[in-house]
Amino acid sequence: MRILGIESSCDETGIAIYDTEQGLIADQLYSQIELHAQYGGVVPELASRDHVRKIVPLIRQTCEEAGLSLSDLDGVAYTAGPGLVGALLVGSCVGKSLAWALDLPAVEVHHMEGHLMAPLLEADQPAFPFLCLLVSGGHTLLVDVQGLGDYTILGDTLDDAAGEAFDKTAKLLGLPYPGGRYIAELAEKGDATRFQFPRPMMNRPGLAFSFSGLKTHTRVTWEQHQDDPDRDQLKADIAACFQLAVIDTLSKKCLRGIKQTGHTSLVISGGVSANTSLRQQLNAMGRKHHFKTYFPSLKYCTDNGAMIAVAGAMRLQHKDPEQHTLIRAFPRWSLEQLS
Ligand code: ATP
Ligand code: MG
Ligand code: FE
Repeated sequence: MRILGIESSCDETGIAIYDTEQGLIADQLYSQIELHAQYGGVVPELASRDHVRKIVPLIRQTCEEAGLSLSDLDGVAYTAGPGLVGALLVGSCVGKSLAWALDLPAVEVHHMEGHLMAPLLEADQPAFPFLCLLVSGGHTLLVDVQGLGDYTILGDTLDDAAGEAFDKTAKLLGLPYPGGRYIAELAEKGDATRFQFPRPMMNRPGLAFSFSGLKTHTRVTWEQHQDDPDRDQLKADIAACFQLAVIDTLSKKCLRGIKQTGHTSLVISGGVSANTSLRQQLNAMGRKHHFKTYFPSLKYCTDNGAMIAVAGAMRLQHKDPEQHTLIRAFPRWSLEQLS
């Protein structure tokens, strides 16, 4: 079975074809980062317009890469939410119309289920059940995953998402958008012991996250040291302290979640899972506490069409997706509403 996957929930147009026997056979990504960088964040209307411009040529390119024509497909999967409504509608309209025209099943994919399934693109795949940490630009979730569509959210963020905290801290330090990877680069040159940053929500039970206090602490530290003669080192030290605080918090909550559920596999996905220090810390924790860690390869941590294609393929193989006549987009949509 060959599934075309379409991702357009935010600022990446991602198109891919996943074959249930051969795996991923084509994958194209167009990122709008340069378009939005000048505004320091994603401008929704510009995002929608750019998806409109890029989506059809990218579908053609993906078919060319696979050496297939549209008639070789067995299904069309597209991100139906959550995300920016205008951006989502571009993918939904194109995906649903294509499915109609080709008389194929259309699969509405939940963007976070796509992130959650991204490690299935790798050779070493996790088996159900597992604990999943979803850390991206808009989400920080600890999810008990019993099977496809069987999700219980054990921990959520009370305020900012982890990726959002990285991006806001980067902005404060004058780094480009999106700043996660620039913080990570800078942190390598920094001293993570210079300042004592808080570990939010660690001194109470439960699996909830909160990053806005940490963001404020970062800002106050930055402002208090404005007359530091070595500003480059100051920046690097703040980046290192901030990153370590986030990573410590994320990994300790993962360990709590592992102990609470008894799972022996931990899947980490979403843009922040590209962070090398986070990967190292969780891998070390896994070795010590006897659980196995699974990450997507770096290019499938942030948004892409491949994760939507693989999630769509899973759904088509294991469930019969409801075929309705509407073109739908769900800007807000909880993972727990899936079946
Ligand atoms: P969501 O999936 O919640 O809708 P999104 O799709 O915008 O949000 P992703 O594309 O999964 O999010 O991830 C983007 C986020 O990942 C950004 O906040 C970015 O800064 C962060 N990020 C990317 N690389 C790294 C890194 N190496 N270290 C930390 N954060 C990173
Ligand atoms: Mg993005
Ligand atoms: Fe995402």
